[in-house]
Amino acid sequence: MDFSLSGPEAELVELCREFATKEIAVRAPAAWEAATCPTDLLREMGQLGLLGMLIPEEWGGIGMSTVGFVAAIEELGQADQSVATAWQAHVTIGSLPLYLFGNDTQRERWLRPLAEGRALGAFGLTEPDAGSDTRAVSTRAERRDGGWLINGRKAFISNAGTDMSFGVTLLARTESAGGSEPGFGSFVVEKDTPGFTMGPKMRGIGWRGLDTRELFFDDAWVPDDHLVGDPNVGLSQFLRTLEVGRISIAALSLSLTQAVLKMATEYARQRQQFGRPISKFQAVQFKLADIATELEAARWLTYRAAYLRDTGQPYLKEASMAKLKASRVATQAASEAVQIHGGIGYMLDSPVARFYCDSKVLEIGEGTNEIQHVVIARTLGC
Ligand SMILES: Cc1cc2nc3c(=O)[nH]c(=O)nc-3n(C[C@H](O)[C@H](O)[C@H](O)COP(=O)(O)OP(=O)(O)OC[C@H]3O[C@@H](n4cnc5c(N)ncnc54)[C@H](O)[C@@H]3O)c2cc1C
Repeated sequence: MDFSLSGPEAELVELCREFATKEIAVRAPAAWEAATCPTDLLREMGQLGLLGMLIPEEWGGIGMSTVGFVAAIEELGQADQSVATAWQAHVTIGSLPLYLFGNDTQRERWLRPLAEGRALGAFGLTEPDAGSDTRAVSTRAERRDGGWLINGRKAFISNAGTDMSFGVTLLARTESAGGSEPGFGSFVVEKDTPGFTMGPKMRGIGWRGLDTRELFFDDAWVPDDHLVGDPNVGLSQFLRTLEVGRISIAALSLSLTQAVLKMATEYARQRQQFGRPISKFQAVQFKLADIATELEAARWLTYRAAYLRDTGQPYLKEASMAKLKASRVATQAASEAVQIHGGIGYMLDSPVARFYCDSKVLEIGEGTNEIQHVVIARTLGC
């Protein structure tokens, strides 16, 4: 397996590193305090081509490999997890359904502005009664007047409510696909569609800059050309999209682990107790050594899943393993990094506390870690 990047990809990752240090790290703490999505930063990232990272040039993107994308997340996520997550969600689940399953007219109309960084994409799967159990989606799309009448409610949808959002690509129950199986279709619902409203931005423990809301559809009518792909295979389209999303969350977890490892190491080297730096105590050294080792293990799983995708091989199991391992490593590393900082690490003004708050959701979003276990166990024949 070769995880090395091409010259242009390595340059782009370098550009991400620079943007992360000079722009995101400096401005993101204010976004955390204000708990608003920093769309000014996302627009600037769009101008650099970063919002179309996984979309080919033909549709306005830059056609980066998945391995290159993971490397870019590693850079951006070290500066701020909210910005990185709004961005990665846009690049993966917010844009890919249109690229992978849309027709050329739909790609021109909705994907190009997303890839060129002129709009932000959202993915509407989860509902109040359909989280891990995706087949329980009850939002309905019924054929009406040459289009589809959508009724229902979506929960925890990210990137749909900002001043840069175009709307949402959502999953809705359609007619029966035959037999007892329900059919599901994917639909684009633009934000000014009558009958489409949303709740206020939700307040999380972390990812405070991410715009996550409830969406409501009350007789929201969309024309037939808003249906993406076959009206009966939307669920498998959404699940396929989530496979890439899981690699992305794994990469975000790597970036968080790398960030807290760096902070904890630097702090341990300068904090003096009992007349010496606390880094000289073996208990502290072992924590840091464990984080570094686990990070490396998680990194290999994540790059391997990305490599398999890039080389056209199945990667369902590997994406779940990467997400499971990397998110666990991140939450444990964040906790240990706060421990190494002692009291100051507990205070919200300290950057390590911010990363600690951001870590938990990595075990929940895009399929909880229990669901990753289910996916992996299924591939073992269970
Ligand atoms: C900040 C944030 C942003 C999000 N953004 C989006 C978004 O943009 N689009 C979107 O569609 N969704 C989004 N989500 C939703 C997210 O994907 C769901 O929260 C997640 O899939 C879990 O669903 P749930 O919250 O309903 O939990 P539930 O499914 O109710 O699970 C509750 C608990 O039960 C466990 N459990 C459930 N079923 C099983 C099982 N079969 N075996 C073992 N344990 C099980 C779970 O692992 C979990 O621990 C977001 C969530 C958050 C927190």
